[in-house]
Amino acid sequence: MVSADVLTIAVSKGRIFKDALPLLARAGITPSDDPETSRKLILETNQPDVRLVIIRAADVPTFVEYGAADVGIAGKDVLMEYDSDGLYEPLDLKIAQCKLMTAGFAGKAASRGRLRVATKYVETTRRYFARQGRQVDIIKLYGSMELAPLVGLADVIVDLVDTGNTLRANGLVPLETIAEISSRLIVNKASMKIKHERIKALIDGISAAVAAKQEGKGV
Ligand code: AMP
Repeated sequence: MVSADVLTIAVSKGRIFKDALPLLARAGITPSDDPETSRKLILETNQPDVRLVIIRAADVPTFVEYGAADVGIAGKDVLMEYDSDGLYEPLDLKIAQCKLMTAGFAGKAASRGRLRVATKYVETTRRYFARQGRQVDIIKLYGSMELAPLVGLADVIVDLVDTGNTLRANGLVPLETIAEISSRLIVNKASMKIKHERIKALIDGISAAVAAKQEGKGV
């Protein structure tokens, strides 16, 4: 499935794309359309042999592992949940940084029965509590996790927390940090061999952009 002449990069719209654009630009890649306004799922770039595919964040590892894309940009939260060793993860882009946390009501005594945890991160949550020997019931949700404790669906939630404003606005507080999250560059294993020079150049270009941004030089 990996096409020999084209380099395909999988990205999701929104926060990650916005923050990844300057890094890609520094590596010499500029999309020809704005994915926020375009309905196209495949975007050409200024480089004739590089294209972007625009997909849901949770699908990025799947596209890359199966070779539908050579490279992808995915949040660590998504990669932890996908939990595969079928991908390379060569670079921390240090964008879209936040924490994966448990959250709930402040000072609420632990419930007597098994703790009920609402989340879309079922696998990560299961592993986190299992490591601590805590038995919990996990309730899978697809969004608006903060609502679950408010309506008695769950005792706590596991979700991404950035400023904490969403939690605060719903009367909840952050409790335990499960993981520090940022976006990562991921690479298909076969592509890394077959297109080694190009992918190495891409990694080096983006890596330099990440370093420059960290040093406050902008990108
Ligand atoms: P905040 O209110 O700033 O704590 O942001 C929390 C909300 O934004 C939650 O709904 C999160 O799912 C979402 N969020 C925060 N950071 C990220 C991120 N890096 N990537 C995706 N979603 C995020």
